[in-house]
Amino acid sequence: MTTKTNTTTAEHKESSMFDAVLARLDVAAKIYGLSEDVAIVLRNPQKQVKVSLPIMMDSGKIEVFEGFRTVHSTILGPSKGGIRYGMDVCDDEVKALSAWMTFKCAVANLPYGGGKGGIKCDPRKMSVGELERLTKAYTYAMADVFGPHKDVPAPDMGTSAREMAWILDAYNTVHRGNFPAVVTGKPVGMGGSLGRETATGRGVMVATLAALKKLNLDPKKVTAAVQGFGNVGANAARLLHEQGIKVCAIGDHTATLWNEKGIDINAALAYAKTNGGVLKGFHGGVEIKNIELLTANVDVLVPAALQNVITEEIAVNIKAKLIIEGANGPTVPEADHVLQEKGIIVVPDILANSGGVTVSYFEWVQNNYGHYWTEEEVNKRHDESMHSAFDHVWNNGQKYKTTMRIGAYITALMKVEFGIKAKGNY
Ligand code: NAD
Repeated sequence: MTTKTNTTTAEHKESSMFDAVLARLDVAAKIYGLSEDVAIVLRNPQKQVKVSLPIMMDSGKIEVFEGFRTVHSTILGPSKGGIRYGMDVCDDEVKALSAWMTFKCAVANLPYGGGKGGIKCDPRKMSVGELERLTKAYTYAMADVFGPHKDVPAPDMGTSAREMAWILDAYNTVHRGNFPAVVTGKPVGMGGSLGRETATGRGVMVATLAALKKLNLDPKKVTAAVQGFGNVGANAARLLHEQGIKVCAIGDHTATLWNEKGIDINAALAYAKTNGGVLKGFHGGVEIKNIELLTANVDVLVPAALQNVITEEIAVNIKAKLIIEGANGPTVPEADHVLQEKGIIVVPDILANSGGVTVSYFEWVQNNYGHYWTEEEVNKRHDESMHSAFDHVWNNGQKYKTTMRIGAYITALMKVEFGIKAKGNY
């Protein structure tokens, strides 16, 4: 078998997000002893699509937006992964996020491969009508990429159930039928699953409790800081608070707050709800700098907003004992060794935020089955799945004498390697 590739680690720029994926993949592959024949497949995404989307803006002018979708792997099932709207969306970011989805679905033991998509746009500056036209144009352009048994999108940064309903409508129009399983994270009542909206935050909470148990720490005596107050951050903060954890710092792109006595998370949620979803102007704590949240004097740090925020320099100053990666890719590879040397346990993104895709899978199952579960049932299945994934990753970390991050990659590699070898079609 030839092992020639167009994409090697060495060919990537230092700052590339896909580099961050390959860096961890290479470390895990070496420790686990992955064959180069398998590694080479994983280094090269299966399909990358880029489209131009001309949209009539409310002003009457046409603007053209760039849309992306990468299918990294369908080895273990249809590709699964969110759609992100933001000005930083680009080929490299989507490619990296799609690869993480391959590993995340494998860690969560789901019958899925990995995909990711996005549109380079600033959704905060667009009207609802413009966003609907853009989302539907994107779906028409991707109508042959998406499919209930091919590639299944979901919400990510800048998108929510509203955009998923538009995607479903556009897909149904093209394919002349009703295909609810083509997208997950839909509104409940349109085939969405109870518990999906809060699932990623719930997974962060379950992972936090599991990790605290390993460290023999009582949640009721623990403090936390949560960066990001969107879908993942706000739900994680609320659920951690409900478990008795004192959340002393929260923040979003408009404000960062600190309160030694613990922030009243329900008050923050109620405030954000009537304030365009943001924390600016909330008086539940003193304002601090964004960066100070990451290095705050707390036990648990939950980065749940952006990628690449925990750099080597920040890592040196982190005081938390535990980092639960709610966001995708919040830690740069160069910071890994600093955190490891400091003895900080990092529950990596591909495990910590896998609650969302787990309940997306449950939504897809319910759509295909045409039978819907109670929220209690969804949460129960989610928690069991999360605990099982946590234990597998923890045990592989111990077995291979490595970090939880590399333990998670090894867990994923074992499953994907099996799929690649079993298919035998190279
Ligand atoms: P979201 O759009 O709902 O919220 C993003 C949050 O980040 C907002 O509160 C925003 O204000 C904040 N933010 C943006 N820039 C910031 C900055 N400079 N400093 C501090 N905060 C900033 O997005 P989300 O769905 O919560 O996603 C957050 C992260 O979690 C992303 O990395 C995403 O890929 C990941 N994730 C999301 C899901 C999901 O189900 N939504 C699942 C897995 C992973």
